[in-house]
Amino acid sequence: MPATSLIRQILRPIFVAARHIFFKPYTYKYPYEEVPTLPSENYRFDPKQGVAYPGFKGRHLLILEKCTGCSLCDIACQNISEAITMVYAFDVSVEVGEKDYGDFTAGRGPLSELLSLVAEGFIKPLVAPDPGAGASHPILGHAVDLKRVVKSDGKVSVVLTGDPVWEHNSGTLYSSYLDEAFSRLERSGWSLSILEDKFPDATVYGASKNGTTVKIVIQKRDLKYPQNKKSYLPQVDYGRCVFCGFCVDACPFYALEMTPDVELSSISRQGLVYNPFMLAGPKISTNPPSTNPIDAFYGWLKAKLGQ
Ligand code: SF4
Ligand code: SF4
Repeated sequence: MPATSLIRQILRPIFVAARHIFFKPYTYKYPYEEVPTLPSENYRFDPKQGVAYPGFKGRHLLILEKCTGCSLCDIACQNISEAITMVYAFDVSVEVGEKDYGDFTAGRGPLSELLSLVAEGFIKPLVAPDPGAGASHPILGHAVDLKRVVKSDGKVSVVLTGDPVWEHNSGTLYSSYLDEAFSRLERSGWSLSILEDKFPDATVYGASKNGTTVKIVIQKRDLKYPQNKKSYLPQVDYGRCVFCGFCVDACPFYALEMTPDVELSSISRQGLVYNPFMLAGPKISTNPPSTNPIDAFYGWLKAKLGQ
């Protein structure tokens, strides 16, 4: 073989590989780079055509203004994977006399113990171990936010939640979040009783210790959607959903769609449960910054070149 042919055979593959440095790559460094979603359409039902659009079946989009709380999506899912649960929005508040609240802010009296345990009941199941789930959860925590303290007629109401807590009913909310907190309160000398039970909408618990008497109120929040007077909405558990789209087909009010958002992973079971406000909101996941300096440089270069 002539020397020139040999050199050509050696250099050619090097040249072929090297020229790709200047080409735009076909691959994406997921999860550091966002993968452009190919289909742009949501999977949704078209009432004019009477068929569903052939869109992407990823995370659901709930259109709150259209949902009537009819539960047909839940029924459609029951024979598939039971991923949908119909839920109410609840607020939890602690009502106390003004004097006891004054003692609490001055660092006296038993109220801080009660507030701490009741708030902890909400924090524990939702924060650990997924920081994302904790950050998205509305409970204020042990510190009392004075903006959420309502005073009237010698009474003070400490509202523990910003956004609502979503549950099937007030009884389930109690057993999911407050059961253990109440046991610990009883062990530390609080006497507890149910003062009012309007299942499933509201429950009022009474608690007293050393002359301090408080009410712990679980109250359904009226979300003021005129077409959904009970404020009853679907919640989706993505640990169960198989993305079949039957719920979208079953919704007679076109309140459910499925979006191209498939980035739903979480390191906790609770992080996979999307409440109605999460379903109605924009995409939650974000691409983490790369820890690789070459990737970081490449990202910077791409941004500079406007690609
Ligand atoms: S897409 Fe998910 S939530 Fe809807 S019916 Fe199928 S399994 Fe159930
Ligand atoms: S999303 Fe549709 S099917 Fe489900 S409760 Fe709302 S209106 Fe009914």
